[in-house]
Amino acid sequence: MVEAYSIPVTKIERSRLPGVTLENIPFGKTFTDHMLEADFVNGEWKNVEIRPYQPLVMSPSLAAIHYGQAIFEGIKAYKNEAGEAHIFRPYDNYKRFNFSAARMEMPEVPEDIFIEGMRKLVELDKNWIPALHDHSLYIRPFMFSSDEMIGVRPSESYKFMIILAPTGPYYSAPMRIYVEEKYTRAAPGGVGQAKAAGNYGSSMYVTAQARKKGYDQVLWTDVYEHKYVQEIGTMNVFFVIGNKAYTPDLSTGTILAGVTRDSVMTILEEMGLQVEEQPVSVDMLMEAYKASELREVFGTGTAATVSLIRELRYKDFVMSFDTTQWKVTPEIKSRLDDIREGRVADNHGWMFKI
Ligand SMILES: *Cc1c(COP(=O)(O)O)cnc(C)c1O
Repeated sequence: MVEAYSIPVTKIERSRLPGVTLENIPFGKTFTDHMLEADFVNGEWKNVEIRPYQPLVMSPSLAAIHYGQAIFEGIKAYKNEAGEAHIFRPYDNYKRFNFSAARMEMPEVPEDIFIEGMRKLVELDKNWIPALHDHSLYIRPFMFSSDEMIGVRPSESYKFMIILAPTGPYYSAPMRIYVEEKYTRAAPGGVGQAKAAGNYGSSMYVTAQARKKGYDQVLWTDVYEHKYVQEIGTMNVFFVIGNKAYTPDLSTGTILAGVTRDSVMTILEEMGLQVEEQPVSVDMLMEAYKASELREVFGTGTAATVSLIRELRYKDFVMSFDTTQWKVTPEIKSRLDDIREGRVADNHGWMFKI
């Protein structure tokens, strides 16, 4: 590990942990004792430090809240039965973070701040990692423009931070999904491949409309014909048809390249299913459904891991599934959990030891 300099740490006087129940803790509401902070000023990163989690003081003219130069990542750390902490595939998120940064005209964050800073922060707050099945520590690195000036131009200063949130099982009931054919998430040439904050802001109205109709999320389609499916909320999507698994390919540049997506493709192959990354049309799904060949549909992402989909609605055509009969999706989840929680050997080099 690069140890270019040691990051100064100011420890909290008294940990808040004794007042927190980690078992079944809800996602994204409780944060650990410390956070990492770094500033990009005059072309270089400085003020890298770990200090007690606390509010930030900011100017009302802070560039990010006006023009949206803001990106983030989502990563998880786990504790195995021996009590050792590991982070799941952090280098993949590190690369994606800097891809997002470049697309948003933001500076790259060096490895000794992103990876070493994360390692050090997680180590410091490792007592917050729940050593319970289906529990983890959610790691949220993010960066935003921090110039105090109104004006549409790239900011000259940026703030990079990492915060940590212990999280329990993501009890998501099998979802009902509305195939969206009016609104769109991302167009070729746009920022759909970047984990840019605005992508989520712009999806909320559309998701709220679907919720009013009784659906949990929308399955986005392509911007030209609303014919090819893309992804769901913060999840990539997979379809088991016959003995193959299909997922939309990334060549359009409109789909976020999920680390869970990549891990699930590897696991599907290990389970003996051929994985096809290709354009997936709604027509193809409806034909497969009518022929009783569309067996399982699921979403993948760091927060929920694998989410079952019990209904897909496209216009008036409803595809519904009895998820209790499924074999593939639960098997993927348990294989991934076994690796992440340290019950089986990590043959892929996915677990990064703290
Ligand atoms: C984060 C995200 C995903 C899932 O990516 P993971 O690396 O698996 O967490 C999928 N789609 C979108 C739009 C996302 O923001």
